Amino acid sequence: MIYDLIIIGAGPAGISAAIYAARQKLNILMLSKDIGGQVAKKAVDIENYPGFDKISGLELVNLYKKQLEANDLEVTLDEVLSIEKPDKYFLVKTTSGKTYESISVVVTSGAESRLLNVPGEEEFSGKGVSYCSLCDGPVFKNKIVAVVGGGNNGFESALFLSNYVPKVYVLEYGATVNADKENQELVAKHKNIEIITNAKVVRIEGKAKPRTEATASSTGVFVESIIYEDLTTGEEKTLEVKGVFVEIGYLPSTSFVKDMAQLNDKQEIMFDHKNLETKTPGLFSAGDCNVSKYKQIVMASGEGAKAALSAYEYIKKQL
Ligand SMILES: Cc1cc2nc3c(=O)[nH]c(=O)nc-3n(C[C@H](O)[C@H](O)[C@H](O)COP(=O)(O)OP(=O)(O)OC[C@H]3O[C@@H](n4cnc5c(N)ncnc54)[C@H](O)[C@@H]3O)c2cc1C
Repeated sequence: MIYDLIIIGAGPAGISAAIYAARQKLNILMLSKDIGGQVAKKAVDIENYPGFDKISGLELVNLYKKQLEANDLEVTLDEVLSIEKPDKYFLVKTTSGKTYESISVVVTSGAESRLLNVPGEEEFSGKGVSYCSLCDGPVFKNKIVAVVGGGNNGFESALFLSNYVPKVYVLEYGATVNADKENQELVAKHKNIEIITNAKVVRIEGKAKPRTEATASSTGVFVESIIYEDLTTGEEKTLEVKGVFVEIGYLPSTSFVKDMAQLNDKQEIMFDHKNLETKTPGLFSAGDCNVSKYKQIVMASGEGAKAALSAYEYIKKQL
């Protein structure tokens, strides 16, 4: 069977793409490792998605599932290994050993935040440790926080947080920061941001409360401090903070598409901004796996819709 469209990934971008494609009556296959993507892993409430004051990741994923059902859409749980286009059709191969064929493909395979891999990080994730300042920053109003990472993401994160909190420490492992000049100049104007270089994060400490039903989606913060090694002296130092924002980069899930789409040095998919088409005609990309700057649910959803409609235009021309 040849599908009109294969959608890879079932996070906000993939789900939105599927809903739009279904409304164009396309014959769709959704392939994904899970349903919900990063939203399903979000420990604290989402507060910046239109229509909801606050919604937990789990609740949003349940609404996604209902909407998929209402559109007669099903997700086939499988991992994509490769995409090829030997002729007119795409061949999508998965870890279960299957090969699927389609006229067009939308890649919405997202990304994963790079982890610090230090003691306390996992324990306090969603309880003071965050990977998204734009999403969680306002929760830390009037609290002292640390940002780990002195690149552009770290600096932009610190600038955003400085609107809410009395003090932001930016910890950078290297002897100098990597953020560009413009961000450095902006940060220098904010007296409540302090940059600490040669700082290797060693652990995060705090008071964890047992996760109960009542606190599962709570915005309470439980981190108490971040401990780093001063690499110039070897001394361990403690900063008393209630929040730790890890901004050491993303890992886009794009290795399976590297032969079909151009990737940048961050492994993000490059595309034509008009229609989200990659260098391979009929192959589109939406959401966190691509080069778009702001990694947010609302952006991923919008791109998913746009990619599906672009795929529809492409498919019509092939028939
Ligand atoms: C801790 C945290 C908190 C966040 N909070 C917010 C918030 O409050 N508000 C907000 O707007 N944004 C928030 N974000 C960002 C938001 O979750 C992402 O921008 C959004 O999920 C991106 O959607 P996506 O569909 O592009 O990718 P993802 O959500 O990453 O979904 C990718 C999908 O692709 C699948 N996949 C990956 N590789 C393969 C493969 N090889 N084969 C098959 N399937 C594959 C995955 O299983 C997943 O289903 C947060 C992110 C994190 C990590």
